[in-house]
Amino acid sequence: MNEMEMKDRWIYLDNAATTQMRKEAQKGMLNYLCEQYGNPGGMYRLGYESRRAVEEARETIAKTIHADCSEIYFVSGGTEADNLALRGTMESSMISGKHIITSSIEHSAVLNTCKYLKERGCDVTILPVDSKGRLSVDAVRKAIRPSTGLISVMMANNEIGTIQPIEEIGELAKKEGILFHTDAVQAYAQIPIDVRKLNVDLLGVSAHKFYGPKGIGFLYIRRGTKLEPQILGGGQEKGMRSGTENVPGIIGMGEAAKYTCAECVANGEREKKIRDTMIEKIRNEISGCVIDGSMEYRLPNNIHLCFEKIDGEMLVRLLDKDHIAVATGSACSANKKEVSHVLTAIGKNSEQARGSIRITLSKDTTMEDADIAVHYLKKEVDRLRKMS
Ligand SMILES: *Cc1c(COP(=O)(O)O)cnc(C)c1O
Repeated sequence: MNEMEMKDRWIYLDNAATTQMRKEAQKGMLNYLCEQYGNPGGMYRLGYESRRAVEEARETIAKTIHADCSEIYFVSGGTEADNLALRGTMESSMISGKHIITSSIEHSAVLNTCKYLKERGCDVTILPVDSKGRLSVDAVRKAIRPSTGLISVMMANNEIGTIQPIEEIGELAKKEGILFHTDAVQAYAQIPIDVRKLNVDLLGVSAHKFYGPKGIGFLYIRRGTKLEPQILGGGQEKGMRSGTENVPGIIGMGEAAKYTCAECVANGEREKKIRDTMIEKIRNEISGCVIDGSMEYRLPNNIHLCFEKIDGEMLVRLLDKDHIAVATGSACSANKKEVSHVLTAIGKNSEQARGSIRITLSKDTTMEDADIAVHYLKKEVDRLRKMS
């Protein structure tokens, strides 16, 4: 393929930020946006049909994590799921003096909620991670106090792709009788999840990270777990989350979950192969570049690179001109001027952090896409280095 042919296509490699909706999700959604528009609370056929479809999606989603459908609560996405899990559990009893354990590389939805709870009297322990971004189970054990009410540790990190020892932390939390929450937004549909085996009480997911629509997600709440609702109103979602159900969103998420979870292992293996080939090529062809995060405990679609003497933002802009979309640091941090808290936590200085980019593959990324991306990556890195 020559450069002219390459320029005709777009290669989207920012799937940790969001994904393209899969066809099944688009189709299901459109029907409930336009034709089946009834309010699920309605006492007539159009309403019943919406209710039926919502409950079918709930059932489908519950199966993907081995939960009961009564334990799935629809919310507006990953951010709300994190807020409801943390504030909901802490506010279900006196929060003053209650203790939360979390990690330094959580999503800002968790870290900012912890900050909010701290200002209202909670004690918060933020545990450090090692240079690969892994949290030690022993550190969690040592941080436990009699007042500890909640442990919140993400399943996989959105920037560097590191997977945490969730099963071990779950076992510990269960033994100590402490609630355990995990933000599984990045992990869901990328690695198999069984809430019983993992001993998690609360698990949050967002549809737009696995080929579903934006603005919808769910929180798994283990039966018997007490939470204070954060949105009050008409009492939908058993009073846990009032507001007319986002029916098209729920249907779109259900379809995305059904198909993507069924393909999870196969997609993961494919992506891992492409990821590792890409990493090898980058290592061989581009000097002054390190791979951040863990190679052993890593999401199959994540590559996080740190280049010497390169401005990551400039590199991303140049690649965009080549029709290749990648991210600098994290797309989730609204304040782009600040260095990523995740990279700081794994010991990067600000110069190193600024020289980094994140490449995240999708189920549709091909080996050819990867080859083209590496070709342009090398070209633009060379160009930037010659300029400085
Ligand atoms: C994207 C993301 C969120 C936020 O999800 P939204 O649906 O965009 O609110 C939370 N946690 C992690 C780990 C994420 O990657």
